[in-house]
Amino acid sequence: MMITGQQLINGLWVQGEAGQYQAVNPAAAAFIEPVMSYASKAQVHQAVAAAAAAAPVFAATSLQQRAEFLELCADEIMALGDALPERVALETGYPKARGEGERARTVNQLRLFASSIRSGEYLNIRIDTALPDRQPLPRPDIRYTNQPIGPVVVFGASNFPLAFSVAGGDTAAALAAGCPVIVKGHNSHPGTCELVAQALHKAVQKAGLPAGVFSLIMGAGREVGSELVVAPAVKAVGFTGSLAGGMALFQLANNRPEPIPVFAEMGSVNPVVLLPEALEQNAEGIAAGFVGSLTLGVGQFCVNPGVAVAIQNPALDRFCAAASAALAKVPAGVMLNEGIAAAYQKGTAHLSAQSGVELVGSGEAVGEKAGFCTQAKLFKVTAEAFLANPHLQEEVFGHVSVLVSCADQAQLLAVVRTLKGQLTGTLQATAAELATQAELISVLRQKVGRLVVNNFPTGVEVCDAMMHGGPFPAATDARFTSVGTASIARFVRPICFQNYPAELLPPELQNANPWGLPRLVNGVKTSAVVDA
Ligand code: NAP
Repeated sequence: MMITGQQLINGLWVQGEAGQYQAVNPAAAAFIEPVMSYASKAQVHQAVAAAAAAAPVFAATSLQQRAEFLELCADEIMALGDALPERVALETGYPKARGEGERARTVNQLRLFASSIRSGEYLNIRIDTALPDRQPLPRPDIRYTNQPIGPVVVFGASNFPLAFSVAGGDTAAALAAGCPVIVKGHNSHPGTCELVAQALHKAVQKAGLPAGVFSLIMGAGREVGSELVVAPAVKAVGFTGSLAGGMALFQLANNRPEPIPVFAEMGSVNPVVLLPEALEQNAEGIAAGFVGSLTLGVGQFCVNPGVAVAIQNPALDRFCAAASAALAKVPAGVMLNEGIAAAYQKGTAHLSAQSGVELVGSGEAVGEKAGFCTQAKLFKVTAEAFLANPHLQEEVFGHVSVLVSCADQAQLLAVVRTLKGQLTGTLQATAAELATQAELISVLRQKVGRLVVNNFPTGVEVCDAMMHGGPFPAATDARFTSVGTASIARFVRPICFQNYPAELLPPELQNANPWGLPRLVNGVKTSAVVDA
C-alpha cells in the first residue's frame, strides 16, 4: 500500500488544505518520506457532515452486520502485511516486534468487540410489560435499550500507534456501539495512521456502509482537534494523552452550547506499595519485576509505575541495591518524538533538583546514540519531602520513578492518602499483609481504577472484565473504562419506549426476541420470548 499523505473524508482521499509536513524517525532524528498534509477547518466540517449523514443509517444496522464490519476491519488491517509494523517501527522507534504485537492486540480487540456486541449484553435490555389491572393505577408497557450516541471524535495516542490510534480501543468501541468515527490522527505516526485508515476504508466499502462511517483527519497546532470537538454534530470524544490536552478538550466540550462527554484518559503515576514482609522475603525479585515494568517500552505507558512507596528498613535497602543493579543494564531508549524526549529531560531534571531527592540508579548513558534517546532513572525521596511537595507526584512520561521512603506504617498511609486519582494501584504484599491491611486497601480503592496484587501495572489486558480509567486526573469520568468491552458503554445512551406499538419496536425489544438476546423481563433475566 502506498502512503500518500492525504486525508480520508467521506470516503475520498483528498489532499489536506492547511499545509504540509513530514514524519520524523525518532531513532535517527531524520525526516521520513512522503510529504504529509494537514486538513483545513473546512475539511473538518466535511468529515463531520459525512459522519452526521451516516449516523442514522449506521445506527439502524443489526448487531450481526456491525460485528461483521468489525471483523472486516481486523481482516483488512492484517491484509496490510509487513508494511504496517515496518512503518510503526520507522515512525515510533519501537522494535518491529512491538508493532506486530500491537497489531495482534488491535485486531483481537476488534474481533472481541464483534463477539461482544453479538451477545447484546451492552444493550442492557429491560422490559416491564403493562399491568393494566394494577391498582391504584395501571402500569404502561415500558422497554429500555441502549442506542448509539452519534458521531464520535477519537484522538489517537502517540504511544500506542495501533492499539490506541486509528483503529484502536476508542474507535472499536464507538463503531461497535453504532457511532460513526472521525479520527484525529497523531502527528508522531501519520503514515501508520494512513495505512490503517486505508484498511478501515476498504472495510466500510465491503460492508456496504455509508462513507461517513469513518474519516481520518490530520492536523497540528490544536486547530483541527478543537474544531472537531466544537462541531455541533459531534456527540462524544475519546482521548488518550496528556492531562493538559485532555483538560483543554474537556473544557471546550463543556463550553459548547450543547455540552458533550469527553472520555479522556490522562496522567497517572500508578503507585506501587511495597509492604515490608514481601520485601523481606523477596526484595531482589520484586526489584527485578519493578525495573522491568518501569523500563518496558522506554516507560511510555500510561500505566508505567511512576511512584513506589515503602517503609525504610534493611529490606528496602536490598530492593534499592537490586533495582540499581538491574537499571544499570537497561540501554538508553529512543522516545516517540522530540517533544516527549524533551519533556522527559526537563521532568527528570526538575525531579532531581527538588529538595530531599536522591538518585538510586540510572540506566546506561545516552552517549553517542542517535535520535531522541533518554536514560532510565530511579529517584528516592523521604515521605516528609514528598508530602511537602505536590510536584513530586506529577507524571513524568517515560522510564523514571520516585521511591518514597516512609518511617512507619502511619507515614506510608499518609503518603497513599495524599495521592491523586490513578489508573492503577499495586500492592506487593504477603497473604498475611493483605489480610491485615484493610485500611490501606480501603484508601487505595478510593484512588484507583485497577488494584493489582503481586503483579505490576504494565500490561493492560483487553477483556470483558478490564477497567482502565479511574478518578480524576487519571480520567475525566471515573465511571467508565477505555479498554475492554465495557468501554462500549461510553458511546451509547439509554432510551425507553412507553406504550409503543409492538410491531414498531427495535428488534431487541420485540416480544419475539428475534436476536435471541438476554433481557431483564419483569425483573427476571431471560432470553425467552415475551408473552404479552
Ligand atoms: P498530547 O499533547 O495530549 O496530544 C494528544 C493529541 O491531542 C494530539 O493529537 C494533539 O493535537 C491533541 N491536543 C492536545 N492538546 C490539545 C488542545 N489544547 N486542543 C486541541 N487538540 C489538542 O499528547 P502526546 O502528544 O501523546 O504526548 C505529550 C505528553 O502527553 C507526553 O509527554 C506525556 O506526558 C503525555 N502522554 C500521556 C499518555 C497517557 O496514556 N496518559 C500517553 C501519551 C502521552 P495537536 O497535534 O494538534 O497538538
